[in-house]
Amino acid sequence: MSGPSYAEVIGDPIAQSKSPLIHKFWLDALGLAGDYRRSHVTPDALAAFVEQRRADPDWRGCNVTIPHKVAVMDLVDDPGNIRGTIGAMNTIVRQPDGSVIGTNTDAAGFYAPLADLDLEGAPVAVVGAGGAARAVLFALARAGVGHVTILNRSPLKAMGLLATFGLNGEVVGLDSSLPPVSLLVNSSSLGMTGQPPLDLDLSPLPDDAIVYDLVYAPLQTELLGAAEARGLDTVDGLDMLIGQAALAFELFFDAPPPEGRDDELRGLLTA
Ligand code: NAP
Repeated sequence: MSGPSYAEVIGDPIAQSKSPLIHKFWLDALGLAGDYRRSHVTPDALAAFVEQRRADPDWRGCNVTIPHKVAVMDLVDDPGNIRGTIGAMNTIVRQPDGSVIGTNTDAAGFYAPLADLDLEGAPVAVVGAGGAARAVLFALARAGVGHVTILNRSPLKAMGLLATFGLNGEVVGLDSSLPPVSLLVNSSSLGMTGQPPLDLDLSPLPDDAIVYDLVYAPLQTELLGAAEARGLDTVDGLDMLIGQAALAFELFFDAPPPEGRDDELRGLLTA
């Protein structure tokens, strides 16, 4: 006999995840009966976890966070060729026939706040070359950006990403000065609570530049504070967090999140 449908977020660690708060807020707001849980899954338990859930007709799927975004690609179907493009999955969805597919909603979630801008040919700078940077660079390549400067601790990794996404640009160290780009994105862990700060001099940026920080803990990072002090437009990490969750929610529960409730949700996430 089947019970109420549910989705979940998996990772190791998992206690910090904001996904249950977001998805439960939307389930409640829509009056849907489903549930959204958090499950601690270690790397050695990932394959057995996916097999066990695959057999559960109540399971709608899961969000995937650190450290499973790459490993999970070996365990699920990949109809959208995520492996050959972004190279990391953050959402797994069980199909009615019991097959399980993986996708990535981070790239679209990242891009949503920028969708009204014309980034065609625009010079951009991206800090970081990890999983989040892959989604960012994929989205920026699709938007047709111009010269891309990646600032990263490990240069070889970043050079590989320029090639992977067919971007023109260069890789520089974290202590290099910024070029005068239209958009600066921090997709590294720097500036996160418990991590070293991201220490960048923003003075080379033009007055109409946008500074986008994916870090959401804390929400008001030093980078965003410095950008605001310069009068630059900013985008914080909650926009992407909510954006990627919205796409996953619709895949899990066959309904879009309620409209007009983002301010309330942001309030809960920052309480
Ligand atoms: P990741 O794959 O572990 O990559 C981390 C990146 O940060 C790498 O480029 C790494 O440099 C760099 N880094 C880490 N510690 C460093 C240090 N001490 N010094 C210099 N560089 C350092 O992590 P991720 O999944 O990409 O996540 C990165 C950030 O994005 C996190 O803050 C995460 O919370 C945030 N994020 C936000 C959202 C959202 O929805 N807002 C979504 C995804 C991720 P190396 O390449 O040299 O190792």
